[in-house]
Amino acid sequence: MPLIVDRGADWFRSLGTEKSAGTKVVSVSGNVRRPGNYEIELGIPVRDIIYGLAGGLEPGRRVKCFFPGGSSAPVLPGTDENLDLPYDFDSMAKAGSMLGSGAIIVIDDAHSVVDVALWTAEFYRHESCGKCSPCREGTNWTVKMLDRINVGEATPMDIEVLAQMQANIIGNCLCVLGDSMAMPLGSMIEKFRPEFEDHMEAARQASEAEAAAGDLELTGSVEGAAA
Ligand code: SF4
Repeated sequence: MPLIVDRGADWFRSLGTEKSAGTKVVSVSGNVRRPGNYEIELGIPVRDIIYGLAGGLEPGRRVKCFFPGGSSAPVLPGTDENLDLPYDFDSMAKAGSMLGSGAIIVIDDAHSVVDVALWTAEFYRHESCGKCSPCREGTNWTVKMLDRINVGEATPMDIEVLAQMQANIIGNCLCVLGDSMAMPLGSMIEKFRPEFEDHMEAARQASEAEAAAGDLELTGSVEGAAA
């Protein structure tokens, strides 16, 4: 503020881009080595924020995805193309997300995107006031269906239903909270569907192996008792 008062609005508008003038305080959190709040000139590359100001990731890790503007923003995969995007309102919108609050949450490749989806959905289910059905039921069923994927009870159809559910929540709630869950969840399913499918299949096989081991143990104890 003192700099703007001292140097004037034109000076401030000379920073940033034509449509996103000036600076913005961004909050970088998640899997970075120097999380914190940084004042940046709008339009600098996302990579400079994550790898420069926020210190990058732990050695050997790469960005799986990032929320460019808070947990309600659709995630962007950590591709070179996305990391080279200018961090401004227009560029984030054109990339299919939003700059939003300027809270950049970085997820590295050590994390399952299904877990990230579950944490996000659990937060919004907790925050839902319950007044309207798309949000109340949508957040609740999203958590339940992600739980089904995690315990190996889901089928590929469930992932499709989960995706459709997010599309049906968006634009149909009384306030923005329902959309705030559905937008990032929808983007995770759209951009990481193979990971959802692999996770579901691995959980299903683990669950079957556990059940088979339980059957063997039971058979062994029955035979032991009979002997
Ligand atoms: S969208 Fe808003 S009003 Fe509707 S249940 Fe969720 S928090 Fe309540």
